[in-house]
Amino acid sequence: MKEYKIEGLSCASCAADMEEKIKKLDHGESAAISFNASKLKIDEGANISKVKKILASDGASLITNEEQHDHSHTHNNKLKLFLGISTGLFLLTIIFEASFPNILSVIFYLTAITMSGYQTFIKGLKNLFRLKFNIDTLMTIALVGAISIGEWKEATLVAILFGFNEYLEGLGMEKARKSMEKLLKVAPKEAVLIKDEVEKVVPIDVLQKDDIVLVKSGEKIPSDGIVVDGISSVNEAAITGESLPVEKEVNAEVFGGSINNEGVLKIKITKAFEDSSLAKILHLVQEAQETKTPTEQFINKFAKYYTPFIMIISVLVMTLPPLFFGGTWGTWFYQGLAVLIVGCPCALILSSPIAIVSGITRNARNGILVKGGVFLEQLGKITTIAFDKTGTLTKGEPHVEKIVEYDNRLLSIAGAVENKSSHPIAKAIMKKVEEAGAGFSESDEIKTLSGRGIEATVDGIKYFLGNEKSIEHLNFNEEVLRDIDELKAQGLTLVIVADLEHVLGIFGVSDEVRQESKAVMDKLRQAGIKTVMLTGDHIQTAKKVANQVGVSESHANLLPEQKVEKIKTLNENGSVAMIGDGINDAPALAVAELGIAMGKGTDSAIETADIVLMQDHLGKLPSAISISKKVNKVIKLNISLALGLKLIALLLTIPGWLTLWIAILSDMGATILVSLISLTILIENKVK
Ligand code: ADP
Ligand code: MG
Repeated sequence: MKEYKIEGLSCASCAADMEEKIKKLDHGESAAISFNASKLKIDEGANISKVKKILASDGASLITNEEQHDHSHTHNNKLKLFLGISTGLFLLTIIFEASFPNILSVIFYLTAITMSGYQTFIKGLKNLFRLKFNIDTLMTIALVGAISIGEWKEATLVAILFGFNEYLEGLGMEKARKSMEKLLKVAPKEAVLIKDEVEKVVPIDVLQKDDIVLVKSGEKIPSDGIVVDGISSVNEAAITGESLPVEKEVNAEVFGGSINNEGVLKIKITKAFEDSSLAKILHLVQEAQETKTPTEQFINKFAKYYTPFIMIISVLVMTLPPLFFGGTWGTWFYQGLAVLIVGCPCALILSSPIAIVSGITRNARNGILVKGGVFLEQLGKITTIAFDKTGTLTKGEPHVEKIVEYDNRLLSIAGAVENKSSHPIAKAIMKKVEEAGAGFSESDEIKTLSGRGIEATVDGIKYFLGNEKSIEHLNFNEEVLRDIDELKAQGLTLVIVADLEHVLGIFGVSDEVRQESKAVMDKLRQAGIKTVMLTGDHIQTAKKVANQVGVSESHANLLPEQKVEKIKTLNENGSVAMIGDGINDAPALAVAELGIAMGKGTDSAIETADIVLMQDHLGKLPSAISISKKVNKVIKLNISLALGLKLIALLLTIPGWLTLWIAILSDMGATILVSLISLTILIENKVK
């Protein structure tokens, strides 16, 4: 598959038409044109010059590779110029019509018509011969009809309207796309590589893991890495949406694409640029524009039936009154033409894409990655959000607070087992083991008891490590029971270490609640969203965290599969989103209607989730929801505006009041309104 940029795509339905034609070429079956992204994906084997011809027949063109970037406005600029001239000619002629010889007015009108309407006209004629009825066909018939009854003024206006519509469609989408492209521009281009103490400027793609790069103040950090020398504050807004600078010193993690504010940093690259967080974001954002939402699909289908339907109405309006109700042919022919113009579904088709691209862009600016219009639409309809506890509501950086030791092998066994685990708790225990300088040997036959703990063999002896559920083979003695209760009462998470006969000891672990959790829960509640906490931890810790953050509901002692069940039950009473980091909650993320992954979560969680919180921060979640709600509202408003104006125009035919003027203005007005309303989504609302 190869991907090309297309320029000059003027409307979604023309894009769909061209896609159909391209699909008929050899190797073209899999071709897909995305109007939102202005892109064509096509099999490598396809004949590109034929593709170009098809695109050219509708006034669009293909950009091979980096052929050009700035050309995307040339189409629109030409259109603008032509429109300007023809509008001028038009105005001039109506003002001076009385003093002009008739033939001169006609010439002026004709010139204006040709300049703004010739493309539509050619397309329309072609379609007419193929008996294909789309917008261009409608407009062409209306144009010819108006000329045939000598309505030059109206004919000119129809042509100008059409050019104008095309211009606006292009402009609205371009604005939305521009704003997205600006986002993509943050990708760094070069880096200063330090090799054998020599500095060398290299392109980003040659950087490899473990390379050391130098980043001076004001420069962009080339890829994800770790600071090995220097202190500075860094602006990570491009990745996380957080515009406050973040202090970085030795051993701090940094993201590619963030900007080094003042100091000089030496950074050890941990990921090649193509695997970095930024590259992932850019890729996902681009992909996101390409999926069609159900609403969009519906509108496109609707437009397919709407246009022929209007043509039939128009024929009926032209013929019925004169045939059966004694109307004059001339009057009703004119009315019928006006109805044809009402048949242009431009505003309707445009009601959704600009809004969606704007919404995805707004969220991306906040470090929230919505992987497609569909998910944006869903996010706006969510009624319940389920949160995993560890790593989501809490920081996921637990530390061991208490150690109860019954057997001096405790630390070395814990070390042997936990050093194989990626669970945040395992890291906390490893830290204690290392601090104590306890040596540990290798463990094997490791079995992860998902949501409970780990089973493993060390030096031929079998050990169990985890919460009570992982040690079901033992009856705890009184001392152990008392200690367990005491640790639980303090709201600590338990990690019990045992062999087949004895308990070796217990770790009491605690994880701080994220600073923003409480405020986010409050905001979600105000927005009418139910918040639910799901955790594999025991009830006391669950209660403590639930109280601290203020969730509406909490469920403890859940195994991963029980989290799935809970999500399913919640799903029955509304739309549920699940947020987690992918550790012991990946199945729940997958079954929820909307899966939201934390930015520091497992790679697979980030890959499969529908939305990713890149900054590993819940803070912007409420605003993402309100953006989505706004997008949904805008789309609804757009659809009702587009259809409402048409309906009013159609109703005007009953008393015979519909003029070509009204038809044209209602059409133009709808397109302008729809584009403008959609672009308001891009405007950031400072009041939170
Ligand atoms: P949460 O639902 O809060 O994210 P998990 O489902 O990941 O928690 O884990 C549930 C419980 O299982 C933990 O509180 C801990 O007691 C135990 N556990 C799971 N994996 C491990 C591990 N690798 N090391 C220690 N304890 C573990
Ligand atoms: Mg978890």
